[in-house]
Amino acid sequence: MILLTPGPVQTRPETRAAAAQDIAPWDNDFRAVYARIRERVLALAGGDPAIHACLPLQGAGHFIVEATIRSLVPAGEAIIVPYNGAYADRITKLARAAGRVVHTWPVPDTRGITAEDVQAAIDAHPDARHFAMVHHETGTGIINRPEIAGPVLRAAGKRLILDSISCFGALPFTLADYPECDAVVFTSNKCIEGLPGIAFAVARTDALEAGRAGSWSFDLHDVWQHALRAGPGSFRFTPPVQALAAFGVALDLYDEEGGQPARLARYQANMRTIYEGCMKAGLRPYLTQAEQGPIIVTVHQPPGFDLQGFVDALKARGVLISNFYTTETPTIRIGCIGAVSTAECEQAMAALADILVAA
Ligand SMILES: *Cc1c(COP(=O)(O)O)cnc(C)c1O
Repeated sequence: MILLTPGPVQTRPETRAAAAQDIAPWDNDFRAVYARIRERVLALAGGDPAIHACLPLQGAGHFIVEATIRSLVPAGEAIIVPYNGAYADRITKLARAAGRVVHTWPVPDTRGITAEDVQAAIDAHPDARHFAMVHHETGTGIINRPEIAGPVLRAAGKRLILDSISCFGALPFTLADYPECDAVVFTSNKCIEGLPGIAFAVARTDALEAGRAGSWSFDLHDVWQHALRAGPGSFRFTPPVQALAAFGVALDLYDEEGGQPARLARYQANMRTIYEGCMKAGLRPYLTQAEQGPIIVTVHQPPGFDLQGFVDALKARGVLISNFYTTETPTIRIGCIGAVSTAECEQAMAALADILVAA
């Protein structure tokens, strides 16, 4: 099966094999593996150990987004969420449920934010200190560029929380270039191509205040303090040990491939193959080529389209894509990320074209 979904993604057999073992998290061999993962993740985010901490949390991506907002933004304080897709909506929901005040700033879901958008949003909401932005919007495929938002926020004395979950490791980002960024968050199972189960924030420790989270389980200050108390290889609660072992291998394979530039190049080639393949098959892209990021391609469903029937037909030909969409108008979403070659994307597009011709 070729998995063309934007998470969990297709993984390499070596990565999955690393999970086929029993592991005791407090075992000294494993503590070293885990401590090394924390160091590597901090370095991958461009963090400085004197300024930042790698804060792992068990579970899905939304857990780390919620934990980060709770731990960095005091209850009752306002944040701005540039609102151009489904994942911005999720930040809005989880922050409001946590008692933070959210000012959404609507931007069309067909383009990334501009410097003018960021300036207008902060001018309109002077009470908000934080700007919580989805880096790559997995609902559509657009990119909200920290290269654009960062300098505007920096000049205004605002703080950035970046949900980089769907693009971390593929799009370039380094904390060293973004002093206004309090945290960047991501998971094991998207562009690093690990198994699902573990999420990370790399955060400025000067932004982590004790007792702020209003949730012990999601308190990143306590995650940080625990590592200082019990050692960098120690976890607060039961960790997904198999996912962590697999993640270590996924990081090795990432480095072997050539790191971020190589991964971005492969995903971009996958994206172009999928984007052009869809157009050749008569499907209309949701985004212009200029706005299209390298993570997921979204195309309009033809009139009267049966999405589940199409997903099933593709699956029968060995290709699995998302069976849901989050855009206002019905779309088809095809992922470009994961341990998938461009040749496999070509194969997938041939299957897609066959099915559409037969329909
Ligand atoms: C995948 C993703 C998440 C997290 O999703 P989970 O299902 O909670 O792991 C959050 N933000 C973005 C932009 C994502 O792509």
